[in-house]
Amino acid sequence: MLTAGVVAVQGDVAEHAAAIRRAADRHGESVAVETVRAAGTVPDCDLLLVPGGESTTISGLLAEERIDEELRAFAAAGKPMLVTCAGLIVASRDAGDDRVATLDVLDVTVDRNAFGRQADSFEADLDISGLEEPFPAVFIRAPVVDDVGEGVEVLAGVDGRPVAVRQDNVVGTAFHPELTDDARIHGLAFFDGSA
Ligand code: GLN
Repeated sequence: MLTAGVVAVQGDVAEHAAAIRRAADRHGESVAVETVRAAGTVPDCDLLLVPGGESTTISGLLAEERIDEELRAFAAAGKPMLVTCAGLIVASRDAGDDRVATLDVLDVTVDRNAFGRQADSFEADLDISGLEEPFPAVFIRAPVVDDVGEGVEVLAGVDGRPVAVRQDNVVGTAFHPELTDDARIHGLAFFDGSA
C-alpha cells in the first residue's frame, strides 16, 4: 500500500485524490491518499502532489506551516512528485515574483499568467512525450516555463513554450490534469517509472 500526499492548503484536492486513485488502479497499485495541511505528513508519503491555486498564497502557507522544508527533502530523496499550475510555480527555481517563495525542486524559471487575460482559460489536446494519445489539457491562468536547466526534459509545449517538464522524479505541468477523467499524467508522474 502506497501513501499519496496531496498538499491541501489550497486547490483541487478531491479531484487530484480521485485521479491518483484511478491511475493507481490502472497500474495495479493500491494507494491511500492523505491531505497535507501541516508538517509531519510529507515524510510518511511515497508520492506527493502540489496542486494549482494561487502560488503566492500556497508558497506562503507552505512556509508558515513549515511544510516547505519537508517538500524539499521529499524531492531530494528522489520520490515521485507532481506539481501542477500554481504548484509548478511554487516548485520552480524562480517565479519572477518576490511574493512567491519558491521551493527550487525543479530547475526551471516560470512566467506566471503567461497566456494573458484574453486566453485566461482554454483547453488544448497536447502531445506529451511518454503518452501515446494526445492529452486534453485545461489551462487556467496558466504559467509557462521560460528557462530550463540541464537536467530538465520538456514533455510538451504550446506555441513552442514548455508547459510540461520532468526532472528525474519531479513532473510539472502548467495545466490542470485533474479536471478531466484522464488520469494519465498522474500515472506518468507516479507509476510509470516503477511499473
Ligand atoms: N495564476 C496562478 C498563479 O500565478 C496559477 C493559476 C492556477 O493554478 N490555475 O499562482
